[in-house]
Amino acid sequence: MATDCLFCKIVAKTIPAKIVAENSSCVAFRDINPQAPTHILVIPRHHTASLNDAKDAALIGEMHLMAAEIAKAEGLAERGYRTVINTNADAGQTVFHIHLHLLGGRRMSWPPG
Ligand code: 5GP
Ligand code: ZN
Repeated sequence: MATDCLFCKIVAKTIPAKIVAENSSCVAFRDINPQAPTHILVIPRHHTASLNDAKDAALIGEMHLMAAEIAKAEGLAERGYRTVINTNADAGQTVFHIHLHLLGGRRMSWPPG
């Protein structure tokens, strides 16, 4: 755990979050500032700053599979949803503990802004 990391504190449950799923490797919780009717973040328990630092291919896969399971549970799978990892400044990453955004419940445009 990185002691000054917001998302490590959510994993440790020292900061509250609306947790929707968790297993031995990942935790998913609702974004505090949702950009769509459903906006959930899937994070690994183990601190990793960004995709640039990711080493564990299975873990990156597990994050995506957890997002797909949640999308099904939230009734988004048929209609569609978006999964996004923002990396560093140009993509607008603001929290430096890797997280997969799961967004759904509205029509989204492409390309993203
Ligand atoms: P990024 O911009 O780094 O890709 O995404 C960070 C996300 O974390 C943002 O969507 C932001 O709303 C969310 N966020 C920031 N602080 C908190 C918090 O304390 N709790 C929750 N649930 N989400 C947060
Ligand atoms: Zn962290």
